Amino acid sequence: MTGIDDLPVRDELRGKSPYGAPQLDVPVRLNTNENPYPLPEALVERITERVREAARDLNRYPDRDAVELRTRLAAYLTDTSGYEVGLANVWAANGSNEVIQQLLQTFGGPGRTAIGFEPSYSMHGLIARGTGTGWISGPRHEDFTIDLPAAEKAVAEHRPDVVFITTPNNPTGSAVPAETVLALYEAAQAAKPSMVIVDEAYIEFSHGASLLPLLEGRPNLVVSRTMSKAFGAAGLRLGYLAAHPAVVDAVQLVRLPYHLSAVTQATALAALEHTGTLLGYVEQLKTERDRLVSELLAAGYEVTASDANFVQFGRFEDAHVMWREILDRGVLVRDNGVPGWLRVTAGTPEENDAFLDAVREIKKEQG
Ligand code: PMP
Repeated sequence: MTGIDDLPVRDELRGKSPYGAPQLDVPVRLNTNENPYPLPEALVERITERVREAARDLNRYPDRDAVELRTRLAAYLTDTSGYEVGLANVWAANGSNEVIQQLLQTFGGPGRTAIGFEPSYSMHGLIARGTGTGWISGPRHEDFTIDLPAAEKAVAEHRPDVVFITTPNNPTGSAVPAETVLALYEAAQAAKPSMVIVDEAYIEFSHGASLLPLLEGRPNLVVSRTMSKAFGAAGLRLGYLAAHPAVVDAVQLVRLPYHLSAVTQATALAALEHTGTLLGYVEQLKTERDRLVSELLAAGYEVTASDANFVQFGRFEDAHVMWREILDRGVLVRDNGVPGWLRVTAGTPEENDAFLDAVREIKKEQG
């Protein structure tokens, strides 16, 4: 049987595994940080209308520059952060994964490197690999906060072309203070001109504010966002970035023409019309996230502080055995490969109850 390694694949892909959160058919799925609430019926109606309109023009290529969508995204960012961004500051793609890929194609690539502080979002390293960018794993403290002196040292030593900072961090949940981001930006620029990408996929769930205002006067800073989490639209595949207009111009050099389909643009625009309702779900999820933290602590588990729609909990001799125990009770959580820890996404109150019942029962059985 012919396998991958029998094909003339690139050397750096040999023996590697793809991103693989299991998509298992279990009653309660709390493993991929999705929003558990289906879109409200009024929004489904509006999407249908907008898509029907778009369908009439599907013989034509879509708006290559997604001007209306980027204008609406800029308005959303301005309204929610108080920091004014406009069309020229915003770029959108099929999920923030594609945004990150375009950034690495533009600013990374063969002969260049990117650094991330791990554990963090594993796709940063995987997209680096896919774009031929060397990957450097930077340090964190025991408590998963960024070890700033060690991180500054790593940046000075490796002189990366791209620096990733995920805030709130996935899978650990905690937000990164603005001072840490600023210090790393300064350290990175002192080493060599480089891009600092602040991945704010979960920022709407944070106790703190977005770092968008840091863009002022910092053309080498990028903030990336997604509609997959707070907007409850993971299936839509819409991510975006805010940065200096020159960054938006630079990613045009690598983006595929017409990468955002007319259907995607129409759907995203409909969702943005319902921002108020969708952000209401965020408030419910934040309450549920805080409940998960307090109930896990009460049940005798450890948790890391969470600013996201998920909670990292532990500690386990063997996290994978615990993952299986929870799965045996009909609840799918995530084993991100962080030794001793698992991650649970905040679901509906009923789903969270099912998860909490499972972990309480396991604790009882283990004595
Ligand atoms: N960044 C982080 C930190 C994430 O956790 C995720 C999704 N799990 C993404 C980016 C990508 O999200 P999407 O491609 O759906 O926008």
